[in-house]
Amino acid sequence: HPLAAVTGAEIRTPLIHGGHVRYANLDYGASAPALSVVSAYLNEILPYYASVHRGAGYASQISTSVYENARTIVRDFVGGRADDSVIFTRNTTDSLNLLAGCLPLKDGQHSGDVLYLDIEHHANLLPWQGVPHRSIVAAPTLAGTLNRLRAELALGNVALLAVTGASNVTGEILPIDTLAALAHEYGARIVVDAAQLAAHRRINISADDVDYVAFSGHKLYAPFGAGVLVGRPDWLDAGTPHLAGGGAVRDARLDSVTWTTGPARHEGGSPNVLGAATLARATQVIAALDEKDWQAHEDAIRSYLVDGLQRIDGVTVHRIFADTAAADRPAEDAGPGSIGVVNFSLKGYDAGLVAAYLAAEHGIGLRDGRFCAHPLLKRLGLPAGSLRASFGLGSRLEDAQRLLAGIEELLRTGPGWDYVVDAGRWVP
Ligand code: PMP
Repeated sequence: HPLAAVTGAEIRTPLIHGGHVRYANLDYGASAPALSVVSAYLNEILPYYASVHRGAGYASQISTSVYENARTIVRDFVGGRADDSVIFTRNTTDSLNLLAGCLPLKDGQHSGDVLYLDIEHHANLLPWQGVPHRSIVAAPTLAGTLNRLRAELALGNVALLAVTGASNVTGEILPIDTLAALAHEYGARIVVDAAQLAAHRRINISADDVDYVAFSGHKLYAPFGAGVLVGRPDWLDAGTPHLAGGGAVRDARLDSVTWTTGPARHEGGSPNVLGAATLARATQVIAALDEKDWQAHEDAIRSYLVDGLQRIDGVTVHRIFADTAAADRPAEDAGPGSIGVVNFSLKGYDAGLVAAYLAAEHGIGLRDGRFCAHPLLKRLGLPAGSLRASFGLGSRLEDAQRLLAGIEELLRTGPGWDYVVDAGRWVP
């Protein structure tokens, strides 16, 4: 397909009975393979890798301009406002922890709560447990959940609504424009965890009136180690510096300090220039994709996989909201829809065993477990976990076909011989 060329070389994987097959990577939701343009860019800038901000030399000047330019590129990618701060971090988890240290204070006390749903990834749940917070159990429908959020916001004293753009467990997209309007109606701000959404949908925080957005490079076809937080500068410029150290200060004395403002306030120490630069380069490639081709490619795999799984006796596809189910078929009334993530389980089979079998016998990589979303998995009735197939630009329909065939074979014949489970691996 036309989009496959944007990802790098394909990997071959060994099978337990011998031989190799093309690796069917159905784990894009965890980390997506680097784009070939991104790998090439990394090699291009490597020779100029030098200290940023503090060097007068030629390489330092280039490094500094690459790093600072990356902020502008990322701001454009999310449709940021001219005065939005773009802070480079380690990942989404880091970005949300940073924001948790920047909630507004009044007389030294937090002036409002953070509100979140029980569907969140731990990265958008645990940072808020260290500050005043309230949580809500999502309703069985999206519409019901919006009502619950409205009722809670109406009680007042919410400073920030923290919500995911798309579930890392089921792929369902949340209507962030509606949520932003709801938060603002009650005087709260909104942060969107776009770790999943950014790799699958255009984001425009100005148009959607979103105050803060966070995502990671490694889920967006760039290397590990860099993430970003973009948003309104006032809280960020007044908040607790995320990493106290060199670069974050205006003036340091032996036992006191005047912190600087702007991104540098939170980026103490030598920054991850290559991480930020490659993340920014990846956003340019994503931004240049033909949106129709991009969505059609992912929707086709998703529909095929969901249809196929639902036809197999003993397989259940899991979703959070009953009223987003129609989004499995791209249609006019599909609502916000779903990204390339499908969650399912096999009756009578431990999810870890199924994942290990699919890897060993069929060369398929997918995720099993509780997806760093323990409260949600418990509420979905999956305390022992489930399976997640996730895909993106380099995926092929053939990957979904291989998965369906693998599951059918497992259900038809069993794993083929007796296995002992040793530390999560199949041992014949
Ligand atoms: N939020 C969501 C929705 C995610 O899927 C993930 C990664 N699984 C994270 C946050 C955390 O991202 P990172 O590990 O890059 O910090």
